Amino acid sequence: MNRAVAPKISRQSAFQAKNTATVALATPKAATRSVASIRRPFGTFKELTLTEQAVKSGRTSSLCVSNAMATTSPATFLEDEDKQSFIDTVDTFIFDCDGVIWKGDSIIEGVPEALDMLKAKGKKMIFVTNNSTKSRAGYLSKFHGLGLTNVKAEEIFSSSFAAAAYFQSINMKKKVYVVGEVGIQEELDLAGIAHIGGPEDGDKKIDLSPGQFMEHDPDVGAVCVGFDRNINYYKIQYATLCLRENPGCVFVGTNLDAVTHLTSAQEWAGNGSMVGAIKGSSGKEPVVVGKPAPFMLDYICEQNNIKPEQICMVGDRLDTDIQFGIDGGLRTLLVLSGVTTEETLKSPENAIQPDYYVSAMPDMLSVFK
Ligand SMILES: [Mg+2]
Repeated sequence: MNRAVAPKISRQSAFQAKNTATVALATPKAATRSVASIRRPFGTFKELTLTEQAVKSGRTSSLCVSNAMATTSPATFLEDEDKQSFIDTVDTFIFDCDGVIWKGDSIIEGVPEALDMLKAKGKKMIFVTNNSTKSRAGYLSKFHGLGLTNVKAEEIFSSSFAAAAYFQSINMKKKVYVVGEVGIQEELDLAGIAHIGGPEDGDKKIDLSPGQFMEHDPDVGAVCVGFDRNINYYKIQYATLCLRENPGCVFVGTNLDAVTHLTSAQEWAGNGSMVGAIKGSSGKEPVVVGKPAPFMLDYICEQNNIKPEQICMVGDRLDTDIQFGIDGGLRTLLVLSGVTTEETLKSPENAIQPDYYVSAMPDMLSVFK
């Protein structure tokens, strides 16, 4: 890590910060507008370091801090005697969906009752997913189809929505070329952003006869890459031409997940493979809007008028969910109902430690039943 852009918060300041105190950063310029309110009421406070990614992203609306690269203390199993105080000190829960709320197309046992209980306690709930294949409307149908009829569209943040919100934030007036599925297209439509590509290019093939030249639209101002079950060479070439030849063309990736769980039998190549292909051919770095990048959290905090220290991130993946929470200065709770096993969590190779872990989301409320 480049220490010139990664100032440490002093150990003294860190201890002063325990239990909802405010940590003021000394330098650098990129971080001077950021003040972290870091609340870690139960765990051992860890030395905090600004992540390189956070500094590069120029994030200023909330602080990105990470303790994953510094000395980490192991995650604590959330015992019954700590559950009441844990719930009391969280105002908003951000839930990852797959592995936390559902697995594939099946709701995880006890989740509907647990969400009802949190709602009765006045907790705000937000559901985030890196899966861009559906729009918010698509996810709302899934929630309702699984019996979670109290969930509202504005409580759902998919990376497809995050991509459209990002394009709105940069006032995108040109067309977006989509490598991805219908979720991105639906969100771009709702945002009033013109787009081409997507599933319509799924069957296109390239004729590589001698002298073949591929035209592309010079009015494409961005390429958006999300998970695409029908990615092909035509789409990769089209995206590459836009990024290499259209001046100022923006490259957005909905997420960089290495693998995804299309079936329960094995892991399948995730959107990281698709973004990686176009990064390789274009030579450009993508702007990532999904977890663990900060865009989604900044947007959620701003839209809902909430502060990071009021939030607990609940997820089943260390490298996306828990890293997203750590980078954002949130409290973090890992559930073992998804991809991460207790063995992985406790492995000496694992540097990403949540504050707490439980077997499954409903377990954090077991003492209230
Ligand atoms: Mg998950």
